Amino acid sequence: MAKIIDGKLISAQIKDELKEKVAKEHIKATLAVIQVGNDPASCVYVGNKKKACEYIGIGSRSYELPEETTEEELLDLVDRLNADDEIKGILVQLPLPKTIDEKKVINRISPDKDVDGFHPQSVGRLCIGEDGFVSCTPAGIIELLKRSGIPIEGRECTVIGRSNIVGKPMALLLLANNGTVTVCHSRTKDLKEICKRADILVVAVGKPKMITSEYIKEGAVVIDVGIHRTESGKLCGDVDYEDVLPHVSAITPVPGGVGPMTIAMLMVNCVKAAGF
Ligand code: NAD
Repeated sequence: MAKIIDGKLISAQIKDELKEKVAKEHIKATLAVIQVGNDPASCVYVGNKKKACEYIGIGSRSYELPEETTEEELLDLVDRLNADDEIKGILVQLPLPKTIDEKKVINRISPDKDVDGFHPQSVGRLCIGEDGFVSCTPAGIIELLKRSGIPIEGRECTVIGRSNIVGKPMALLLLANNGTVTVCHSRTKDLKEICKRADILVVAVGKPKMITSEYIKEGAVVIDVGIHRTESGKLCGDVDYEDVLPHVSAITPVPGGVGPMTIAMLMVNCVKAAGF
């Protein structure tokens, strides 16, 4: 029987641990959340992030800017928040409108307040194994594996996807945990053969149900990062869950797997940004 990795439960445990720490150590922190425009998905994510702050006992300050906000205006706000001692973490909800250069905005956030872990300094630290802010989704996946008692060291770990937010930091984190890591992407040849070698397969391909049992080694651990809404309104991942389930030793469901971990790890980063 495959173990279903319960991300909802594990993320709740992490948030409870943080709540206790914040109360016990009198941690004072405020997260600034900036949203430009009102993309419905972004509104939901921003709302959930603010709720999580409230739950663990830290503050959040919301900046809801109109779609027409210029790059200069946004950079000015980031500068002001960088200089504001009350603000310990700054989060700019992506995607930004096309008129704004995302890279420029991310690079402007002080590396000390980079709770999303997207700043080049944070990525560089991760790359050379120094402590710093780590991108929340891949950090959450490592936490899921550890708290589920799944060893990484010495195992064949394959990541499908090489985005800056998921695939690349995921590969670096698996490497830092002594996995033997292969990264696959849209130009990879023989994807199925490579995936079939994996003890741990992390799928962040952004294609609904693309990964079927043909990609899975018997007894593998499968982590599904994808999140899509089907025509019938249900959520599904990048993995064909029903098809692969009989072949895996452990798997994350969608919803309730990786998704809830992202916000829990954001809270971990906020507490860290406050110096704890
Ligand atoms: P992305 O589109 O930036 O990257 C997708 C990657 O998949 C690319 O590197 C590309 O090379 C690779 N790819 C595309 N087609 C491929 C193919 N046929 N074969 C092999 N590789 C292929 O996406 P992303 O931002 O990394 O996100 C991936 C998925 O994870 C999306 O479904 C996204 O919605 C989801 N996501 C979920 C969370 C969460 O909190 N659960 C967070 C971030 C992203």
